[in-house]
Amino acid sequence: MSIRPTVPEKSLTDLSRAALRERVTALGLPRYRADQIFKWVFQKGIRDFDAMTDLPKALRQTLADDGWTIGRVTLERVAVSVDGTRKLVIRLQDGGAVESVLIPMGEGRFTQCLSSQLGCALDCKFCFTGTLGLSRHLTAGEIVDQVLVARGAVPEGAVVDHLVFMGMGEPLHNFDHVVASLGPLTDPDGPGYSPRRITISTSGLVPQIDALGQVAPVNLAISLNATTDEVRERIMPINKRYPIAELIAALRRYPLPPRRKLTVEYVLLGGVNDTDADAQRLGDLLRGLSVRINLIPWNPFQGPGFARPADDRVRAFHQHLDRRGYTVTVRGTKGIDIDAACGQLGERPDAA
Ligand code: SAH
Ligand code: SF4
Repeated sequence: MSIRPTVPEKSLTDLSRAALRERVTALGLPRYRADQIFKWVFQKGIRDFDAMTDLPKALRQTLADDGWTIGRVTLERVAVSVDGTRKLVIRLQDGGAVESVLIPMGEGRFTQCLSSQLGCALDCKFCFTGTLGLSRHLTAGEIVDQVLVARGAVPEGAVVDHLVFMGMGEPLHNFDHVVASLGPLTDPDGPGYSPRRITISTSGLVPQIDALGQVAPVNLAISLNATTDEVRERIMPINKRYPIAELIAALRRYPLPPRRKLTVEYVLLGGVNDTDADAQRLGDLLRGLSVRINLIPWNPFQGPGFARPADDRVRAFHQHLDRRGYTVTVRGTKGIDIDAACGQLGERPDAA
């Protein structure tokens, strides 16, 4: 099966503003009509042509007759965790489902975790999504749709003020669609997220990291997860292609805007990569880089035989890096009761 999306229907959420203008002017209509449609779709998030009340009825009809729809996903289910995390199960037009997570950050603010692929090809041994393999890339529209449909799942009065590409899939493997989704997501006439409020997390595809640095000033997070090639190769097969030294070199040449930090994610696997020697090597590897280190104690799922490290091990690891002057945070386990924590996303075979 091709990993390229083959969803047949034409969806307006897949169009950039320029592409939308082209379609609209090709219908013999003025450009401002495209801008009106853009706002309805991406800012107001309407899903029905009839709601576009400032457009002539005939134009709405033309779009519908021409086979256009608004969005190609449906919000199928929202699971709510005891800690307020909300997991959205989003059904795609061709039958698959992706998950997106709303993570409460306090004071009515949420961070939305977006999926970029249906499954993932990179086969990291500690990640549930990795066990699924890759079915296909998501289109730009299917990525933007996750943000638009989430509005129906955000508690009254709350706002989603950050987007992170940390859901299912490797965003930089689906580079073109992910970059295309940033157009509408950052457009002031759309959801209007500043690129500083968007983070793309990658397992370390070096050429695409370089390419991203050239096209989009979003935040970058790197899943480093080990300090020796031997261990990293074992838990992240991609390390055979892009070993640690090459990855760190890519971070050193990344055109980071002033006063910003890269995020280095480090999944702590008990007895595998959580020793004092690892903490020492991690500190050495990152020396001189402007980074924030995010430690993520492993979120379990059945199968791979890893263990979550004990709390005092996490603390010791944290303290070592802290003493060396790094900014270190430990990611909590939000959503763990509904399989919405990092690395737990993907339909279980026994799911209803
Ligand atoms: N593919 C991208 C983004 C999705 S994974 C990437 O790998 O960066 C988002 C984060 O979750 C990554 O840092 C990954 O290392 C981490 N992760 C994956 N499985 C996990 C698990 N079971 N427990 C804790 N973190 C996990
Ligand atoms: Fe894919 Fe990221 Fe999971 Fe690795 S950690 S399998 S790259 S989603």
